Amino acid sequence: MSANTRDAAPLLRVEGLRKHFALTKGILFAKTLGHIKAVDDVSFDIRAGETLGLVGESGCGKTTTSRMILNLEDPTEGRILLDGEPIHGLRGEALSAYRARVQAVFQDPWSSLNPRMKVGRTIAESLIVNASRNRGRGDRAQIDARVRELLLQVGLRPEQAQQYPHEFSGGQRQRVALAAALASRPKLIVLDEPVSALDVSIRAQMMNLLKDIQAQDDVAYLLVAHDLATVRHMADHTVVMYLGKIVEQAPTASLFDDVRHPYTKALFSAVLVAWPGQAAEEIELRGEVPSPLDPPSGCRFHTRCPYVMPHCSQREPALREVSPGHFVACHLFE
Ligand code: SF4
Repeated sequence: MSANTRDAAPLLRVEGLRKHFALTKGILFAKTLGHIKAVDDVSFDIRAGETLGLVGESGCGKTTTSRMILNLEDPTEGRILLDGEPIHGLRGEALSAYRARVQAVFQDPWSSLNPRMKVGRTIAESLIVNASRNRGRGDRAQIDARVRELLLQVGLRPEQAQQYPHEFSGGQRQRVALAAALASRPKLIVLDEPVSALDVSIRAQMMNLLKDIQAQDDVAYLLVAHDLATVRHMADHTVVMYLGKIVEQAPTASLFDDVRHPYTKALFSAVLVAWPGQAAEEIELRGEVPSPLDPPSGCRFHTRCPYVMPHCSQREPALREVSPGHFVACHLFE
């Protein structure tokens, strides 16, 4: 059964997505040395108003996947559909309409804030672009009112619209970035490590704010994170990636109470803070992630897996449903 069947009409559908980057040598007569398989046959759904957590070590393909969803990269194969419509090949107005519906908040809010622009102006810019796309006049009083409303929604004061980004703390800047993302009333926001640069004391506030906004606006989140505590707190559904492949995918409660894949177990073992239901079995993740230029044959995790069997290096395990909605790609579950 495909992991996509859990919902008949998802907001976003990712189908058989692949992204292979050519590795070349030389400039004029570039020779292709090989292909980096950053994302290799990835499928999942995101429903309206839900949070999907995408986790894995650095280099697992989660960032490349989110860049394709943001339409910043074209896939090598596969497709992405928003409300049933493919997103590739969008140009001009259709592309800006897509960008309004799918926004992003990144780990470093400086990347989306102009240091020389008052934050009210930054937020207003998205409103002006949106109004002109909808053939509206972008009425100044309405835009100012909406900027104030957005600042209040993210827990800031309306008068802070007159301040510059450097006058805010890191947590406040992330709130401003969120207000700017919310300005176009998106259906989906890609949250790329949204709290990992914040002080631990501020993280919970930011996560609770994101959940409150989701409850109010019915916005969906794709949460890209390496921190399992953030994913557990935020995500309804979690996808674990290793070397460009999905190795485990489940409702978050099911995953955290009954982790199955040896790689996911290893990720959990690396977390110092335990939680009820955490697997008692500990697996130490040894060695580096192999190169995606020449990934291991069969199961890509076999070079690091303590349960490796002779056929693991020869046959690639399929993603199978081991309990309702819980999918695992490992020969131990065949
Ligand atoms: Fe380990 Fe084999 Fe399962 Fe891969 S398929 S995770 S190598 S047991």
